[in-house]
Amino acid sequence: MKLLHECKGATRIGISGHIRPDGDCISSCLAIYGYLKKYMPKNSYIKVYLEKPAAVFSELKGFEDIVTDFPEEESFDVFFIMDCSIERIGEAQKYAQTAKKRINIDHHISNSGTGDVNYVKPQVGSASELVYDLIVTDGGEEALDKELAKIIYTGMIHDTGVFQYSNTNQKTMETGGKLVAYGFDFPRLIEETFYQRTYLQTQVLGRALMESIRFMNGTCIVSCMEKKHMDFYGATSQDLDGIVNQLRNIKGVHCAIFMYEIGNLEYKVSMRSDEIVNVAEVAGYFGGGGHMRAAGCTMQGTFHDCVNNLSKHIEEQLLQNGAI
Ligand code: 5GP
Ligand code: MN
Repeated sequence: MKLLHECKGATRIGISGHIRPDGDCISSCLAIYGYLKKYMPKNSYIKVYLEKPAAVFSELKGFEDIVTDFPEEESFDVFFIMDCSIERIGEAQKYAQTAKKRINIDHHISNSGTGDVNYVKPQVGSASELVYDLIVTDGGEEALDKELAKIIYTGMIHDTGVFQYSNTNQKTMETGGKLVAYGFDFPRLIEETFYQRTYLQTQVLGRALMESIRFMNGTCIVSCMEKKHMDFYGATSQDLDGIVNQLRNIKGVHCAIFMYEIGNLEYKVSMRSDEIVNVAEVAGYFGGGGHMRAAGCTMQGTFHDCVNNLSKHIEEQLLQNGAI
């Protein structure tokens, strides 16, 4: 796929990604935005629509331009759906549905391609790396600049856990290497957007770890945050990012589940695993999706119903792989 070729003649271009946008989603949107702003005709109308992104990403170029209130708009000539399939872009669906052309760029195994043009590569660690590949295919390395490099690098570190998760390969590292050559302060970027937590975030993390429960012989662990406790700390869903990774770090755990209440008897579920459990498959049974080792879904029922339903599928896999 050639980005500028696909946008040829378009004067109205929209960009969106999944609800509760994470680092890779925000970065892949801003990278497409920055690239098109730079190379499309100056009078083009180009907008990014996302739910309110976390403030730690505010130093990425274009962050201030993100539209978070989904106003009425005339139809777009081209609409980009980033880091997810069309069903997961929330309110932005209204723009995608009426657009003349939808372009879906994603790296989720659960996405079979939901645009008129699709660039879906499940073997690639982040949607931001896909944007890097597309930009370089379009205009060569010269098409990039320091700001675009910093945006793409941010997305890559978030989805690969700073080049540590199993979705990292030689090419991911080489791309990371080429990006840091642009000279932005990458250690600070990693520290401030990935590792640093506010005091509030540390408190809710502590509480979630304290209240976690292991089951199936210590191979699984679950923790849950109720709405009233989120309210007590003043925590939003953005403050809960990263808790599930900490649960997954525990020795002996093959599958970690973190859930938080989003409505009456309704929970957002995040799962992380190692090579023993494919959580994308588990999430898929409940209408969610994601990657083999990081996936999520939304579930209805009590906490115990949800855990019981999830554990049936997890147990099957643990048994199949001889882990229990
Ligand atoms: P997280 O647990 O960090 O929210 O998400 C882990 C991975 O699973 C991400 O790649 C995310 O996009 C995906 N994911 C999380 N929740 C859902 C969901 O409800 N539906 C789908 N299709 N993917 C999800
Ligand atoms: Mn992603």
